[in-house]
Amino acid sequence: MSNPSKGEPLNGLEMTPEEMRRLGYRVVDEMVKRWETLRDGPAWEGGTRKELEPLLAGGPPEAPGDPDAILDRALQDILPRAGRIDHPRFFAFIPSSPTWPAVLGETLATGFNIFQGTWLESAGPSQLELVVMDWFRDWLGFPATGGGLLTSGGSAANLVALVTAREAAGAPARPVLYLSDQGHSSVERAARIAGIPPEGIRKIPTDDGFRMRMDALAAAVEEDRTAGRDPLLICANAGATNTGAVDPLAEIGAFARERGIWFHIDGAYGGFAVLTPEGKAALEGIGTADSVTLDPHKWLFQPYETGCLMVRDTRLLESAFRILPEYLQDAALGEEQVNFADRGVQLTRGFRALKVWMSIQMLGLGAHRAAIAESIVLARDAGRRIAASPVLELLAPPSLGIVCFRFNPRAGNLDGDALEHLNLRIQEEILASGLAMMSSTRLRGAFSLRLAIMNYRSTREDVMRTLDAIESAGHRLLPEVGR
Ligand SMILES: *Cc1c(COP(=O)(O)O)cnc(C)c1O
Repeated sequence: MSNPSKGEPLNGLEMTPEEMRRLGYRVVDEMVKRWETLRDGPAWEGGTRKELEPLLAGGPPEAPGDPDAILDRALQDILPRAGRIDHPRFFAFIPSSPTWPAVLGETLATGFNIFQGTWLESAGPSQLELVVMDWFRDWLGFPATGGGLLTSGGSAANLVALVTAREAAGAPARPVLYLSDQGHSSVERAARIAGIPPEGIRKIPTDDGFRMRMDALAAAVEEDRTAGRDPLLICANAGATNTGAVDPLAEIGAFARERGIWFHIDGAYGGFAVLTPEGKAALEGIGTADSVTLDPHKWLFQPYETGCLMVRDTRLLESAFRILPEYLQDAALGEEQVNFADRGVQLTRGFRALKVWMSIQMLGLGAHRAAIAESIVLARDAGRRIAASPVLELLAPPSLGIVCFRFNPRAGNLDGDALEHLNLRIQEEILASGLAMMSSTRLRGAFSLRLAIMNYRSTREDVMRTLDAIESAGHRLLPEVGR
């Protein structure tokens, strides 16, 4: 950059080093302040488009503005008007709560402007991504041939898995993919992107625990083979988004291998449970997969966007994606050096491995492991508390941090519509109170409240306080449904 102390004029896109530091320190201070006060504020804040439009309207200014005033606007009108997804009582969807070293790693990667598409342009960062991929490979129990890449998220990872499977199978004409009725929507979207028509998607029914039924899977594959279709990929859940259910991974793995079908596991949120003894037992068979989707931005406490696809045979991933155009001929540095662009969709890629590495180096793997284990325990304890309550009803066995339940007084004799109305109202009240945020889902048609306990900040008190509040709200709202 120009050196203003030597009298060189600043380019219009530059700032003085003093100004850069001052603004940078302010940004860090604001981020730390947010974390210091996170627990005291509401778990969620939003707004309608009508409210937000006038607040943020305006075209781009031609001239520079006052940076502090602009930061003030971002900090007052934009950034806080959102779910506090890392709030200790944000239990909705699949929450994420990044560690501070990970946030710093993300910031450093941006500040150092790392392009991680090719080895030529990022030797050290590429080597670090290999190191992190080796860690993940070992956690999954993949052989030495295993490897992968960090992606924008689980959706991208599922897409890369599907395309890898298709290419490895020689791009069959009538491909069919199998997932359970609890499978994630991103798998269907991947199929759509990859050109697999709706009739090539088979949703296999699940058992009482929301796990894929082996008999139904085998029957569907049989039927497709008989009809001349090409069973391509079985996608099993290792932590279904709805309930945390884990499909019978070892059995599906054995079946898939016997039939020569690619075995993919969607462990986007649940996969990192393998780091804990209990999770490892629950995910037995994960190492038999051909590919596994993982989302470090979920249960490994990383900032967005950090997803990952791991494959059993890295060569299959590279042969599915490698294309070397003339303008990248300088970037072919031989087999040893990995061009991560050859492993997926992106050429320009951010340096995602640094945050993961810094988080684990600075805080230790043990702390990450302990936080995952604690979530599992808290969900189980929440399940016990619900089962013991005369007014709450568990709708699925708690699994990998997820608890599905509803307010349903034992003596209430409420029908499905009344229960849905009541529980919707409870959800609204809890959200409006600011105490917590939870989401809802539908399990075999029944409306269910759902807690996803996945934040290293969440304590037993946070979980129990939320359940207490749900009970009180339910009692208060019961008259609305005429009881
Ligand atoms: C979150 C999730 C996805 C999608 O991952 P993104 O990171 O949101 O793209 C896929 N599958 C499961 C099971 C998930 O929980």
